[in-house]
Amino acid sequence: MQVLTKRVRQAALEGGADLVGFAPISRFDNAPPELHPRTILPQTRTVIAIATRKLRGALKTVEEGTYWQAYNCDSYWYLSEILAPEILRKIMLALEDEGYTGVPIHNPFMSGVGRKLREEHITGPDGMVSLRVIGVAAGLGELGHSKVLLTPQFGPRQRIFAVFTDAELEPTPLFTGEICDGCLACVRECEACAIGEKREVKLSIEGREFSHAEFDERACSPVHNGRDPRFSPFFDGSEAEGEEPAYNKFLMHWFRVLGICVGRGCLRACMDHLEKSGRIQAEFKTPLIERERWKLNEPPARKPSR
Ligand code: SF4
Ligand code: SF4
Repeated sequence: MQVLTKRVRQAALEGGADLVGFAPISRFDNAPPELHPRTILPQTRTVIAIATRKLRGALKTVEEGTYWQAYNCDSYWYLSEILAPEILRKIMLALEDEGYTGVPIHNPFMSGVGRKLREEHITGPDGMVSLRVIGVAAGLGELGHSKVLLTPQFGPRQRIFAVFTDAELEPTPLFTGEICDGCLACVRECEACAIGEKREVKLSIEGREFSHAEFDERACSPVHNGRDPRFSPFFDGSEAEGEEPAYNKFLMHWFRVLGICVGRGCLRACMDHLEKSGRIQAEFKTPLIERERWKLNEPPARKPSR
């Protein structure tokens, strides 16, 4: 068990992962049935979580209001579509070489979309899981007030991916520190008002309680995706009613993602707070936020039609 755990960790780190953790399936005993890893691989005995960091410079240029492509290309598309599949594949090959089966979990967006194929299944294919909770269960960190996974190395600045396997691997201890100090910068700086004031949602893993605020996905989504003209600089007033700005079309064409808010509250404000207060290990020569933050708060003036 120790040897294979070491081999898998090494495969992940050599492949480009920044963090790796292992959760025995028992850590999901309290998970909602429809989000249990066994909805995807019924034979799962260990959940492997990996974290790949987002580039700080990609967040910096959004904070400055000067450049969005680095985030969408590197920290969204490249991490999800190129790097993660490569790392996950390396992990799975290491498992397969020892006779075990692993399944890669990249971005489980579709949930229970098909018909159930066996009576004992909770949902139809495809199953759904929470990668943030998997990160916590695998000992990578804790959930912040904002619901985002915070790690002691990078705070909120990473993407999480997973492998489910029938191999029994050595568990990583749960994180026992405290990163989030309840500063509420995430709540104040979220223009969508998507993050609640109180930390009311609780989950328990092996007796340790984790909690976060209510999160309004429907409020976040249009701001996150740059589809609300009040908060995206890429609407210039020439769009027809309901039309996407040209920049959104460009991002979707090249990267198949739309990250425009780039976590003004839940990612950038949080990270800045954790860095400045020394609550995470990452240290940089210049602060992420070093001037008054840009804010639009209104749609652009309509350009007269030609
Ligand atoms: S991505 Fe933006 S809109 Fe969504 S919760 Fe984070 S700060 Fe708010
Ligand atoms: S911004 Fe403050 S309250 Fe919100 S998650 Fe980060 S540390 Fe916690």
